[in-house]
Amino acid sequence: MKKAVDVAIIGAGSAGLYALAKVRRATKSFVLINGGDLGTTCARVGCMPSKAAIQVAKDFHSRHRLERYGVTGWDALEVDPSEAMEHVRDLRDTFVDRVIGGSTDQMDDEFIQGYAEFVEPHVLKVNGQIIHAGKIIIATGSRPYIPPAWKDFEDRILTTDTLFEQEDLPQSVAVLGLGIIGVEMGQSLSRLGLHVTGIDKLTAIAGLEDTEVNKVAVETLSREFPMWLGHPATVKKENGKLNVSAGEQRVQVDKILASLGRVPNLDGMGIDKLGVKLDERGVPEFAPHTMQVDDLPVFIAGDVTGDKAILHEAGDEGRIAGYNAVRDEVAAFKRRVPLAITFTDPNIATVGTSWSDLDQEQVATGEVRFGPVGRAVIMGKNRGLLRVYGDRRTGRILGASMIAPEGEHLAHLLALAIQQNLTVFDLLKMPFYHPVIEEALQAALYDLTKQVEAKPGEMIELNRM
Ligand SMILES: Cc1cc2nc3c(=O)[nH]c(=O)nc-3n(C[C@H](O)[C@H](O)[C@H](O)COP(=O)(O)OP(=O)(O)OC[C@H]3O[C@@H](n4cnc5c(N)ncnc54)[C@H](O)[C@@H]3O)c2cc1C
Repeated sequence: MKKAVDVAIIGAGSAGLYALAKVRRATKSFVLINGGDLGTTCARVGCMPSKAAIQVAKDFHSRHRLERYGVTGWDALEVDPSEAMEHVRDLRDTFVDRVIGGSTDQMDDEFIQGYAEFVEPHVLKVNGQIIHAGKIIIATGSRPYIPPAWKDFEDRILTTDTLFEQEDLPQSVAVLGLGIIGVEMGQSLSRLGLHVTGIDKLTAIAGLEDTEVNKVAVETLSREFPMWLGHPATVKKENGKLNVSAGEQRVQVDKILASLGRVPNLDGMGIDKLGVKLDERGVPEFAPHTMQVDDLPVFIAGDVTGDKAILHEAGDEGRIAGYNAVRDEVAAFKRRVPLAITFTDPNIATVGTSWSDLDQEQVATGEVRFGPVGRAVIMGKNRGLLRVYGDRRTGRILGASMIAPEGEHLAHLLALAIQQNLTVFDLLKMPFYHPVIEEALQAALYDLTKQVEAKPGEMIELNRM
């Protein structure tokens, strides 16, 4: 059986659904094809259940502060990990239901359950059915990477695809890979009472490139669970346990949480039929401002690109791909200021131009440590470092890295400022309340003014009337 449509979207994840919203405004002739579970990675196994688990762990951990307030009985509090995980799954189900209810539930023949593969750049095969499409959007997402050598003990490997399904949590776990997902989950599991050992072959955690911020991040998070950095891990199964070693260090654990990165879901899709250059991960070359693959009638969006694997970027890429898929002319769109948040406690965040992409001759850095910041002291969270990068000549804000209490909000403020091309002087004219965490940002900005060449006079806080 053959079918012909204007647009075929492969993947009903976040990128695919955002693409769909643009496509269905312009045409009724489309199909959405999804293999695997519906509900999106974000709601099912990503952003939402991970943040739910982090919240439980954070609230339980806050009992340690109660002693200082004269609250007794805090040390008798216990968490039942299986109940905690059930709560996470309850919330997860709510988020998944919302996604499905607002999308594929309302579709008839336009939705096809199955895995799509290319026959030609215009032609797909799904469940044996041939679909001719004027334009095709690839939005197939990614999956956790597991080294093939670990096949021997795959029953002892957890990933974020399986972690939230656990009825009971193991007593000990080695978190292999301390990128954003590894540190978020490592800290949470440790706070829920597991013996956690974090291991990464890099010395940087959470993707931090600024070595000063990384140093404070490693010191701060290591207070809660050990992190072995700078050596790759090897894993052996012995006597029913896993022996994990890295450098000179060894630990025996019940399970491993593999957070070693993610693989684009492109295998088995006949992507070679597109006849374009593929990178080493098998991702076809594409233009990040149009999401077009070469000059083909094919667009790509979301985690499958192997780049910027975060929700709002997947959404934007889906919007761009969907917009372009229903037009004759392909339009290029500006991308938002980069913003990445790691929901550890304190938060780790990077905004704007990354440290390694900055021209070190042209950059000035203002910084603040959270030790003396009044509100952070009151919250009992006065650890961290915020570094704001500005143009040395003009003071224009270029980027920032931080490990900071409430850093998610500071990072957003800075992202808004960067996208508006504001300078450090523009920002210092904005209101800052007292006593709030934002005063730390204000202090870092004052520090930055000392390093930039532009000196707009004595009164940098207020404009003259
Ligand atoms: C643990 C974790 C925590 C995260 N936390 C955050 C966070 O806090 N903030 C944030 O911004 N981002 C976070 N992310 C990232 C975010 O979840 C992803 O960027 C986003 O979900 C990617 O959406 P997508 O549409 O590209 O992929 P997906 O949602 O995975 O959608 C892809 C769909 O395509 C289907 N598919 C695959 N192959 C085929 C095929 N051949 N044919 C048909 N269908 C196919 C899949 O089954 C799937 O339904 C997190 C991710 C993880 C794993």
